[in-house]
Amino acid sequence: MQSLAELGYVLAAVLFIFGLKLMAHPRTAVRGNTLGVVAMLLAMTIAMLGQQHYVTITCGLVIGALVGTTFALRVQMTSMPQMVALFNAFGGAASILVAGAALDPSSTGDTAGMVAIAASGIIGAVTFCGSLVAFGKLQELNFFKKKLNFNGQQFVNFGLTATMVLLAALLVSKPELSWLYLLIVIAASMLGFGLVTPIGGADMPVVIALLNAYSGLAAAATGFVITNHVLIISGSLVGASGIILTKLMCKAMNRSLFNVLFGVMGGSGNAEDTEKIYATVRSTSADDVALMLETAQRVVFVPGYGMAVAQAQHAVRNLAKLLEERGILIEYAIHPVAGRMPGHMNVLLAEADVPYEQLIEMDRINPTMETVDVAIVIGANDVVNPVAKNDPESPIAGMPIIDVDKSRTVIVIKRSLSPGFAGIANPLFAAENTLMLFGDGQQAVLDIAVAIKEG
Ligand code: NDP
Repeated sequence: MQSLAELGYVLAAVLFIFGLKLMAHPRTAVRGNTLGVVAMLLAMTIAMLGQQHYVTITCGLVIGALVGTTFALRVQMTSMPQMVALFNAFGGAASILVAGAALDPSSTGDTAGMVAIAASGIIGAVTFCGSLVAFGKLQELNFFKKKLNFNGQQFVNFGLTATMVLLAALLVSKPELSWLYLLIVIAASMLGFGLVTPIGGADMPVVIALLNAYSGLAAAATGFVITNHVLIISGSLVGASGIILTKLMCKAMNRSLFNVLFGVMGGSGNAEDTEKIYATVRSTSADDVALMLETAQRVVFVPGYGMAVAQAQHAVRNLAKLLEERGILIEYAIHPVAGRMPGHMNVLLAEADVPYEQLIEMDRINPTMETVDVAIVIGANDVVNPVAKNDPESPIAGMPIIDVDKSRTVIVIKRSLSPGFAGIANPLFAAENTLMLFGDGQQAVLDIAVAIKEG
């Protein structure tokens, strides 16, 4: 029976790996997700077999399934990143609780088991608190908009780390002092809070990917605690893919991980100069944009978070089709951190059946931006903000941007001049070759399409 269960676990692990592989491409991602679901179901069923506390486990499963399903059904597409952050936090909390339940003050000598318990508690608590802070930031809760960091925070973080390690060493050597576990969890929770609060602006994507990795590592550590191989494997897979994503995000942001975690956060930018910066902003109308588009040969759409909010992807796709029918070359410039989660724009545009070959990554499209007749920036702000290149004090300093400013004409569609996620003004809006089309992203694009049809 035991070897059959192990075989089932191996099968689940193989399915997880193939699922991940398929998720690497939008065309196969749905199949990959289904494989992951099947693998999880298999792993859970095997884990249930041979258990004694069926009633308790079933109650837990039902409550968990109800909470998960309600969240998944009710969540707005634009709130997806917050939900992922919250689920990461739940993962961390589960590791803290499972490892805590495995503590046995009367046990002696199982050093490896105690190390796994301490590691589970530490990584779980850092993930739990760090993810809650990330949730607050993504939800743009007022509390997290305030400046919560202080001078010397890095020293406090260092102190917390040292305390945590010492307490963990003590717990491992004296398992009878099981109350130490609570102190470890408190110190690690404070560290999670202290590590994530100072991070903001352009660095958030890196932190989210890192917390994702932590949640996997916490699960893997818990797998060692309860000697469950599939939990060790699946946790390691999440941890490894999170670390790969963290590396990719660091590269996309032109940051080192050390710099993100321990660097001094950039200033608040040019808030007091906003009026001066926007003194020369010019607005336009859908009719005028339609006229410009009709004479263009190459048009590039630059989507950002606002396209997700406006759910404008289908309208954009239809406008693009109209232009293609008129022989205009259409492309979409994809910034790696546009939106609020990695791959956000790819997912939205895939949903609207935009051909993959029209999605051009930032590094590939930037050298050709000078030959773009009209760049239509729809709901993007930080990812096209030139201060990233020329203001070393800005919170997004050093982040590569889509060089829309180099194209002949830039149309920016957004509702107002309010800032993006990093909270800073954008001189692009007042540039000589930029025209602002104020309004909701979807409505503005529909208006342009109507004007083209009538023109
Ligand atoms: P931004 O957040 O910089 O800007 C979005 C813009 O969309 C706003 O200026 C807003 O302006 C506009 N907008 C909102 N609603 C609408 C609407 N209905 N119609 C039209 N426009 C709308 O988005 P970007 O994609 O440019 O940049 C992403 C930012 O998020 C970066 O700073 C990135 O670091 C950060 N981030 C990214 C993550 C990721 O993994 N991708 C994760 C966490 C953070 P207005 O209100 O005037 O309409």
